[in-house]
Amino acid sequence: MAGKRRSSSASLSGRVASSKTSSSETTTSTTNTNVTHHHEEEFEFGGPTLGPIGIIVGLPLLTFIFAYYCTSKGWPVFSVADVTKDVPAFLNKLAKDAVSTWSLEVFLAYVAYFLFHVLLSLIVPGPVKLGAPLPDGSRLPYRLNGFRCLCIIVSIMVGVQIYEPFGPRRYTLEWILANYPKLAVAMTVFSFLLSFFLYGYSFVTGHPFNGKKILAAGGHTGYPLYDYFIGRELNPRVLYGQLDLKFFCELRPGLCMWFLINLACAFKQMNLPNNNDGWVDPWMIIVIIFEGLYIVDSVWNEEAILTTMDITTDGFGFMLAFGDLAWVPVIYSLQARYLADSYSPIKTVKDAAVLLAILATSILGMYIFRGANSQKDAFKANANAPAFKDFKVIKTPTGSKLLASGWWGVARHINYFGDWIMSVAWSLPTGFATPITYFYPFYFAVLLVHRDMRDEEKCAKKYGKAWDEYCKVAKWRIVPYVY
Ligand code: NDP
Repeated sequence: MAGKRRSSSASLSGRVASSKTSSSETTTSTTNTNVTHHHEEEFEFGGPTLGPIGIIVGLPLLTFIFAYYCTSKGWPVFSVADVTKDVPAFLNKLAKDAVSTWSLEVFLAYVAYFLFHVLLSLIVPGPVKLGAPLPDGSRLPYRLNGFRCLCIIVSIMVGVQIYEPFGPRRYTLEWILANYPKLAVAMTVFSFLLSFFLYGYSFVTGHPFNGKKILAAGGHTGYPLYDYFIGRELNPRVLYGQLDLKFFCELRPGLCMWFLINLACAFKQMNLPNNNDGWVDPWMIIVIIFEGLYIVDSVWNEEAILTTMDITTDGFGFMLAFGDLAWVPVIYSLQARYLADSYSPIKTVKDAAVLLAILATSILGMYIFRGANSQKDAFKANANAPAFKDFKVIKTPTGSKLLASGWWGVARHINYFGDWIMSVAWSLPTGFATPITYFYPFYFAVLLVHRDMRDEEKCAKKYGKAWDEYCKVAKWRIVPYVY
């Protein structure tokens, strides 16, 4: 999910070629496949074993806990004391519940949903743009039709909800919530399987089906578990290069599922027995509209993803696959799921004032997030545009320029701050009866601080003294006067 960028048009059929190999790389050529290796022994996320194991085991379990144990009967149905009283018994119950939650029908339904997304991404028209230059100097083409695909799938699902072509409550939005824990398990299992495929596929070379391969720097350490986790191949492509799996997964099946779950929650609230108005309450409206705007903004500005760290630097492995496909829809929809079980219209002036304050916070977050991202995108597109005439610009040894005025003079990742404010604003409508709905801003703060550290390291390496000069102008990392 990101801001936005631009680039020149290209055909989807192949990479714009050039070859450049640094002395620290070895390039293995076959008839039609090159594999570029970057030898680096740097480990992120806590080293080659413990960190990856912790994340590979811990995050799916957490996802399951949120999906299974947060229900209309409680958020969650157990207390921390219940867990700490007898940890082995809790883990045992957790394992049994997880296994009994597996459903082949739901898994296949999810696979069908995923494949339908793939089909749409291949056939729906959209401009084709070039990605950022890869380590070997070439650039990959991407078709930007994410917004259209989202519109098509959401329209179909709302239609299925209303007309029920597969039978009463079958594969409708309602069905999503009725099978919610099963769906969370299906998305998790799917992410594991996809990551196994990606790991194995990164070794498959020499066939035009997958085209030229580049391994991610730091993604082929030789530690299979770590490489599986962090992602070995930079831009795995299938179907003769037509389907870029990482680009596809970043903004499509997961974000769209988050949107569908939110809509399902709105339908659920409308049909609660005590909801005499037959409408959704303003708290749900805020969540649906602002989270919806965020999702639509991401796919509308899909081009921006092409220059993010996820696409340009990180390999595609478990970390991104699970994050995109399972974690995002389950964790980001916690607020709507919580609100779905009660109906609370505005009754007092205090309610109205709280609502307005939340609205203002959401708008402030969106203003900073969009303002900062759009400003950098416009600058990257044309640093000489009249809008930047009076801005401070720092030249770098790579030839690109750093914007050191406007939003980017305030803090080096002011866009993260705006994004985080929005995550808080989406949680506030749920009140304070449970901390669970605040898990998203809490985890997001950790993610953004970690991401900021990774990006700082990358920029310091890439821009050297020019980056130091920029840091002197934009002193704060994310939050002005705080951090
Ligand atoms: P940024 O959009 O901030 O991009 C960072 C890159 O921009 C740097 O690596 C550098 O790249 C370039 N850059 C940095 N400073 C400047 C400057 N002053 N002038 C010009 N270029 C500069 O980071 P992300 O890609 O991490 O995030 C994009 C958006 O996505 C953010 O708004 C973030 O909040 C959001 N996001 C949301 C997530 C979610 O789960 N909801 C997860 C992750 C991100 P270069 O090498 O090109 O110069």
